[in-house]
Amino acid sequence: MGGSLSGTAPEDERNPMSRFSPNTLPKSRVIGAVALAMTALVAGCSSDSSSSTSTSTSSKSAEQSQHVFETAHFADGAIVDGTKNAACTLNGGAKATCATFTIAGYPTAYSTGPFCPTTITTPASEAGIWFDGNGTYDLTGEFIKNLATFYNDNEWHMYDSKGNINVTDTREAFLGAARPDVDPKYQNFCVEGRLAWLTNGEAITKTVSIPTKPVLTSSSPSTNPGDWGVTLDGVVIAASAPVSAILGAHTIASFDKCGGHFNNAEGYHMHASTGCGTLDNDHISGETAMFGYAMDGFPIHLPLKASKLKAAKLDECGGHSTPGLGYHYHANSPSKNSVLTCLKGQFVAVAGDRGGPPGGATGGPPVGQPNQSPPPNQPAK
Ligand SMILES: [Zn+2]
Ligand SMILES: [Zn+2]
Repeated sequence: MGGSLSGTAPEDERNPMSRFSPNTLPKSRVIGAVALAMTALVAGCSSDSSSSTSTSTSSKSAEQSQHVFETAHFADGAIVDGTKNAACTLNGGAKATCATFTIAGYPTAYSTGPFCPTTITTPASEAGIWFDGNGTYDLTGEFIKNLATFYNDNEWHMYDSKGNINVTDTREAFLGAARPDVDPKYQNFCVEGRLAWLTNGEAITKTVSIPTKPVLTSSSPSTNPGDWGVTLDGVVIAASAPVSAILGAHTIASFDKCGGHFNNAEGYHMHASTGCGTLDNDHISGETAMFGYAMDGFPIHLPLKASKLKAAKLDECGGHSTPGLGYHYHANSPSKNSVLTCLKGQFVAVAGDRGGPPGGATGGPPVGQPNQSPPPNQPAK
């Protein structure tokens, strides 16, 4: 089906333009080698949870170093008001300690955009990307021009006789197009938003609670935790973009090359891991860089190269354990339209928060926040 992601960091390559500056984060900070018995991870909810920590019922064989939650991994400015640790109850019933903090809602490591191409000749270098669960595509003018063919649907025609593409270039258009029921006059628009068009022109912060030591779930891994997690540079890792609703309205909710875009409800948020905003440097040989924490507290690293996948023996959630890091996830390829597949650990359930992922990769009802729009470069703060 077409296109490849040329302007963007493929799979496991980091985009050098978008990494934390070496000044921001010390080089090899990663392994907070807190020895943690895997068995302790599984502890879950025991009724006498009043004892504080010092009881470690670990079998030596299961011991390994588990990389746990560390505020220090976040970029300066990614967390707004510091972090508070407090007792929490996870969705599987486990009592845990959670770090509660508010993320800035705008990447500290790069400027967002560009998103939509402006004409049918706009090159990949001047526009963002699109992924639909089946592939990842440079959002060139040519791609827009060929939408009717690409999606085999003659109702696509997103440009005028001069080759100018319909782009949501005002706040009003953004609000009309970036909502569940796309205003009919914005059908056949490439949708993008800007920081300036959010309420008060401000980034939308989000407060999250993440267990400081992950606790494995005793039931099946959750495929629907709401958001998957947060990036180390202060952005929500959202559920799948509601592609069927977006395409159903004949819109394209473009992503920038970092895999993020804006909507009015969440501001800037990520739907793919393309190599942006990572912890600088590889600390562990053979591993890709870390860029976020999942809601269950396990670290998320960039995708592994296809050639390394077999040996890595990733589980159904895309994770594995390695010496030094313990259990961690590797993000899916952007083409999957889902940064993670499921969570192995328990997390803090958030009630009614954005309605969860509207229908997986390429299907599912237009629920929640269909059209999320995305947009251009607004240097933030
Ligand atoms: Zn790994
Ligand atoms: Zn979105």
